[in-house]
Amino acid sequence: MVTIKSKKEIERMKEVCKIVAQTYETLEKEIKPGMTTYELDQIAESTMKKLGAIPAQKGYNPGIKGVPKFPASLCVSINDEIIHGIPSKKRVIQEGDVVSIDTVALKNGFHGDAARTFIVGKGSEEAKRLVEVTKQAFFEGIKYAKPGYRIGDISHAIGEYVFSKGYTVVEEFQGHGIGREMHEDPGISNYGKAGRGLRIEPGMTLAVEPMVIQGKHDILQLDDGWTIITEDGSLAAHYENTILITEKEPKVLTIL
Ligand code: MG
Repeated sequence: MVTIKSKKEIERMKEVCKIVAQTYETLEKEIKPGMTTYELDQIAESTMKKLGAIPAQKGYNPGIKGVPKFPASLCVSINDEIIHGIPSKKRVIQEGDVVSIDTVALKNGFHGDAARTFIVGKGSEEAKRLVEVTKQAFFEGIKYAKPGYRIGDISHAIGEYVFSKGYTVVEEFQGHGIGREMHEDPGISNYGKAGRGLRIEPGMTLAVEPMVIQGKHDILQLDDGWTIITEDGSLAAHYENTILITEKEPKVLTIL
């Protein structure tokens, strides 16, 4: 279901999204080579709780037979891992790693969702370019996140920008509406035809999230039931924000 948020609901969305932004500020300061992805997860969880929010991904049940509940507050996906990596005490972050983090906070009944990709320490030039293009793809997409356009216009803009840089997008996962539910309609693909899909209206809150692969677009899922990796072993990056549609330009709620 697509939901149009009331003024009061928008205030709650802003509040929870600010907490997500603050959590990333902390993570960006703390992330370093030698630490485990479990430690990162602990930092995020305590930051969110201190700020009065619940880490909504922890215990998340996708409702798919055979897939376990997600056990952590963060998804941490390194290098050829694209999304949904599970934090672990055994997984040590290395110098130069491309670390994609995705998290959702819940407060007063509303969710805020964002993802960032950090290059830890001194990364390669190719990694930096990939991360930069992924971030810019989000901003290219949201140029169309306003009345007068359709969801497909956002998808088209993201895809065309990424393809023009020689990269591919993940086709099996996409952005989404967000609010009282972590995932609401509409789905927002990272590629597609312009002029298609739902008309964009003020009061919508959307999580727009390019997932970009350096090589071929094919993906695999690990036996843990969650982690999605690139089939060819190439690097991937993820960048996401929750945005609010207004009468004019969209407001990015998960950037301070
Ligand atoms: Mg997310």
